[in-house]
Amino acid sequence: MKITDLKTAVIQGNFEWILVRVYTDEGITGMGECYWGAGVETIVRRMKPLLVDEDPHNIDWLYQKMVRGMSGAGSTGGAVVAAISGIELALWDIKGQALNTPIYNLLGGRYRERIRVYADCGHGSEPTPASWAEKARQAIANGFTAIKFDIDNIDPEQFIEPYHVGIGKWKGWLQGQQRPISHREMDLMISLVGAVREAIGPYIDLAIDCHWNYNTRDAIKLAQELEPFNLMWLEDPIPPDNIEALKRVTDHSPVPICSGENHYTRHGLRPMITTQAVDIVQPDIPKVGGLLEAKKIADLADIYYIPMAAHNVSSPFATMAACHVCATMRNFIVLEFHGQDVAWWNDLVEGNQPLIQNGYITLPDKPGLGITLNEDVARAHLQAGSTFFE
Ligand code: MG
Repeated sequence: MKITDLKTAVIQGNFEWILVRVYTDEGITGMGECYWGAGVETIVRRMKPLLVDEDPHNIDWLYQKMVRGMSGAGSTGGAVVAAISGIELALWDIKGQALNTPIYNLLGGRYRERIRVYADCGHGSEPTPASWAEKARQAIANGFTAIKFDIDNIDPEQFIEPYHVGIGKWKGWLQGQQRPISHREMDLMISLVGAVREAIGPYIDLAIDCHWNYNTRDAIKLAQELEPFNLMWLEDPIPPDNIEALKRVTDHSPVPICSGENHYTRHGLRPMITTQAVDIVQPDIPKVGGLLEAKKIADLADIYYIPMAAHNVSSPFATMAACHVCATMRNFIVLEFHGQDVAWWNDLVEGNQPLIQNGYITLPDKPGLGITLNEDVARAHLQAGSTFFE
């Protein structure tokens, strides 16, 4: 079997979902998906000469060929690794179909038949306890047993563009200051997280994301303040660059610290695992290097008894690919679902059954990825300027 072509289509969901189709001379095509980002689709197309005429079964070798082929352009991280990841996912879909078996059987076999999923809730419609509690109750009503909220950028007094999570247009940045947490903001955080915990009761798992905003001391203080709410984890409390600083936070935090979505490949994740700078590691699978790279990272973490909770903002395709490899990880605990506000997320897949039922995705027993793109729905949400696998 030989690879003959590679094409893309970008679907505009709540993120851009960069779908990758790899074609073969035996009529089998594989579907992959890359993590979003400027230039990723262009880089995928640039990879085509490295893949055409190669045997798609040799996935690890082809991964290394792509990494080496793009090394001068920066294949230790960023958009290049995201592009490689999406192609790698498609190769597993081809191989599973060619060998007539689900992908999880090719990666060591299953520890579990269904994958636990947590719902990213973002934030309430306004920064009030009632609004956040309502958002939490909606997720629980949809069957989820684990949820996550974004706690950063919530104090309208402190931001140029208030209540816009993740951007961090904090007034202090203009003065060149570091990012402290004011007493007012801390009180607001405690009231919002407390309202969510009260709304969901004691036994629903709750994670809180900080998007790399705070200084080390205030991150520790925040963790201490949030201890009564029995968090599943506190995510990315400080910037992602300094693993020694992260270890200081983790060593002094009474709640589990989770990080990893901004790191790439086994080499990028290695220091936070081997120094035990995190309690839970959370690489994004279609960003970190693909299924086999994620499996290697999970196994490295497992040696240190660190659980794996995969980050995920993808369409159903990279989500299902992640489920296949998460099924094979001994230390897997939970996979993110970030599409609660995309009404047509499930409709991208042919068939009538929603992928997520009662907070779990059941692994398909069909060959390869096991799900098929609904092309009508995909075309209806094609990103402006993108072409549909042309
Ligand atoms: Mg996050």
